[in-house]
Amino acid sequence: MAELPTNLRTELRTDLRTDLRTLVIVLGDQLDLDAAAFDGFDSAQDSVWMAEVLEESTHVLSSKQRTVMFLAAMRHFALALHGAGRPLRYTQLNAPENRGTLAAQLQDDIGALRPQQLVMTSPGDWRVLQSIKAAAAAAGLPLDVREDRHFYGSVREFAAHAKGRKALRMEYFYREQRKRHGVLMQDGKPMGGQWNFDADNREAFGAQGPGAVPPRHRVTPDAVTQQVIDWVNQHMANHPGALDSFAWPVTRTQALQSLASFVQQRLPLFGRYQDALWPGQPWLYHAHLSAALNLKLLNPREVVAAAEAAYHAGQAPLASVEGFIRQILGWREYVRGIYWTQMPTYADRNELGAQQDLPAWYWTGDTDMACLRDTITQTLEHGYAHHIQRLMVTGLYALLLGAQPQQVHAWYLAMYVDAVEWVELPNTLGMSQYADGGLMASKPYVATGKYIQRIGPHCKGCRYDPGERSGDTACPFTTLYWDFLMRHETRLARNPRMALQVKNVVRLSDAQKVAVQDRAAAIRRGEVGAGA
Ligand SMILES: Cc1cc2nc3c(=O)[nH]c(=O)nc-3n(C[C@H](O)[C@H](O)[C@H](O)COP(=O)(O)OP(=O)(O)OC[C@H]3O[C@@H](n4cnc5c(N)ncnc54)[C@H](O)[C@@H]3O)c2cc1C
Ligand code: SF4
Repeated sequence: MAELPTNLRTELRTDLRTDLRTLVIVLGDQLDLDAAAFDGFDSAQDSVWMAEVLEESTHVLSSKQRTVMFLAAMRHFALALHGAGRPLRYTQLNAPENRGTLAAQLQDDIGALRPQQLVMTSPGDWRVLQSIKAAAAAAGLPLDVREDRHFYGSVREFAAHAKGRKALRMEYFYREQRKRHGVLMQDGKPMGGQWNFDADNREAFGAQGPGAVPPRHRVTPDAVTQQVIDWVNQHMANHPGALDSFAWPVTRTQALQSLASFVQQRLPLFGRYQDALWPGQPWLYHAHLSAALNLKLLNPREVVAAAEAAYHAGQAPLASVEGFIRQILGWREYVRGIYWTQMPTYADRNELGAQQDLPAWYWTGDTDMACLRDTITQTLEHGYAHHIQRLMVTGLYALLLGAQPQQVHAWYLAMYVDAVEWVELPNTLGMSQYADGGLMASKPYVATGKYIQRIGPHCKGCRYDPGERSGDTACPFTTLYWDFLMRHETRLARNPRMALQVKNVVRLSDAQKVAVQDRAAAIRRGEVGAGA
């Protein structure tokens, strides 16, 4: 590994000439030497531009883990560019000349380097695309935004799939993807005769617990990463979370090692325990690859190919492999399509009219609800929670409470090492909060505390009872579930997939309804749930 120049800008700009032909803009989630933006790159005439700017860590209060993930990966990528002989203009966060926003920094550097054109790969955030377009226009420069080849399909292809459909369902999109890309297919039919093996997946661990789970693949921070950790600890002390456990892959080589370790050690049981929870066990049988994928250290095709190869080699069962591939070839591509075909208005949607503030303890984990405390504490510690924790613990509670979706979105975008808006926003607003009114999910994912009781043992160690709907020991999830059904009864009754759940409200007496409403009001006033 090359040594980190103390100031990447000062050290690496020596390679630069002015009067460039092309300035290639690379953002913190575009760390791929083979990205489309580099097509035709000529080191004699072109240069790369990268900048660390405070705006990206403060427009939502980015957690320490997420901030270090991005900055450390960017600095390692700068070294990779250096190694590949590609001239680079890189501005560090602490550089005195740092202008604080992408647009302002770019404008300054355009002034200094005088390129004839700007090139970039399509970014993952609508806001960032607008600000770079504005900077290019202000400088009077053409901006060539190229297709992101990282994904299996283009946004245009997704739009064609979506055209004329009232609702977008992942399952149909996924089947098309399998056929188009020939993944897990045999003679034009799905491998094993089924598209989906969920019936074989999704078990809980049982009373004996998960036993010996393979340890997380840890990457010990090198000098480059450690420098970022020290800086963030010193200058972003007020940002959420901690860095003691930081061990994420921040280079392509490390990401490939993480992939290999997942395929060997966790993939065989991925499907079976995909939805399971266990206190103090954040990693279980999940891949922990989302950040590496989203920063483009890994390509989804190589991840899918590795899983498929494990199946063919008899190292992992089809149910696990199909379940895993569906997350990447299906969900990941699908949410990207939703984002880019629905933005910018998508971010403002709030179909259920939810206006409650997100409880302050979401940012600290200081709650007496065992399942939420565990999920939020591990999120602060590692910048990670697995899907069912995000959807059915923190997401479910916010939905039932009636938290304003834009506040929920800000929380998810801030907290997770893998959070980039194109993937975080549809998952939060659409799948988790039903704020798009059913564009993405056919019904709101609502459940009582009994659902959480079924998938793990948190309720045993909790002061609340998931079976109780009202009263002092009632589980807040359960109270809020009934309150949610009552508050949205008319709308939900129109949804055939919710009709049965809504019918149960009719069975409640008036006194039972009032007891639920009183308790829900106390929860919303913050009288229940806060403080361990
Ligand atoms: C409210 C909410 C917010 C989320 N925010 C993000 C986010 O900011 N960034 C992010 O990458 N994922 C997000 N997800 C999706 C999912 O929870 C994470 O991708 C997953 O937990 C990452 O952990 P893993 O790598 O161990 O994934 P695994 O469970 O092992 O899955 C394998 C891979 O499949 C992909 N994947 C799985 N589920 C999804 C999904 N629903 N949408 C897109 N890709 C998926 C990821 O790339 C992941 O690495 C969110 C989900 C919810 C419910
Ligand atoms: S009782 Fe309710 S709050 Fe407590 S752990 Fe169970 S689901 Fe969570």
